[in-house]
Amino acid sequence: MKEGIHPNYQECQVVCVCGETWTTRSTKKEIHVEICSNCHPFFTGKQKLVDTAGRVERFQRKYGRKTEKEKEAEQQALAQ
Ligand SMILES: [Zn+2]
Repeated sequence: MKEGIHPNYQECQVVCVCGETWTTRSTKKEIHVEICSNCHPFFTGKQKLVDTAGRVERFQRKYGRKTEKEKEAEQQALAQ
């Protein structure tokens, strides 16, 4: 290998937000991840909402069920 042109490939600590840590090899010293095999619902078998940017909330606001009150208001608005 030529010296000075290759990034330093080293032991790397991966840290997940769930607290799980493990080591791998990378050019980075530390990697932070939001989800790993320890906490991903696919591996845990538990249903968990993985909502990174409020997308679920936005979807529900847009397409979610309307309350009776909202339906009523809509009907009134249409009748006018
Ligand atoms: Zn995790």
